[in-house]
Amino acid sequence: MYAPPVQRLITELGKLPGIGQRTAQRLAFHILRADAEDANALADAIREVKERIGLCEICFNLADEARCRICQDERRDAELICVVEEPGDVIPIERTHEYRGRYHVLGGALSPIDGIDPEDLKIAELYARVATGTTGSAPPVREVVLATNPTTTGEATALHIAAALRERAPDVAVTRLASGLPVGADLEYADEVTLGKALVGRRAL
Ligand SMILES: [Zn+2]
Repeated sequence: MYAPPVQRLITELGKLPGIGQRTAQRLAFHILRADAEDANALADAIREVKERIGLCEICFNLADEARCRICQDERRDAELICVVEEPGDVIPIERTHEYRGRYHVLGGALSPIDGIDPEDLKIAELYARVATGTTGSAPPVREVVLATNPTTTGEATALHIAAALRERAPDVAVTRLASGLPVGADLEYADEVTLGKALVGRRAL
């Protein structure tokens, strides 16, 4: 129906989350109408983010260096680790200004139905971080806050990690965000007051 380059653009745009066929067409025509400069800026931004942004070697948050800004910040409490599903979950927690520890980004949640098992997430890396704290080669971890989403998969992931940590590192406190967050919704949609209260009121698991 369209010239192949136009069809290709529509197809690629249509792969983005929440973008249906009609929206993909609308965006493609917007790009076709745009100045070459604006269109190239979009293409360059996509290319640059893929070339320059990787995962932090410690916490697996997004980083443009080997370590993310939070892991590089000596003022952040290294004895406290907040576990989240996605890099996008770090931002809402930071916005609450209630948290001064470090993070650990799992890269998703356990979901056997979708074939997502512990090996597919950065779970072993979390245990390794906690373990290096107990051997003295890094600051000891005092508490692990499980801030996975209040969804079925997020809860299952939190329980899985809590059980393993109790066995591997019984001296480390394992906590979960207090209830009050909208059940079934992702952390990134929680408002900062609610999320801040959930952090302050976190409870032992
Ligand atoms: Zn990091």
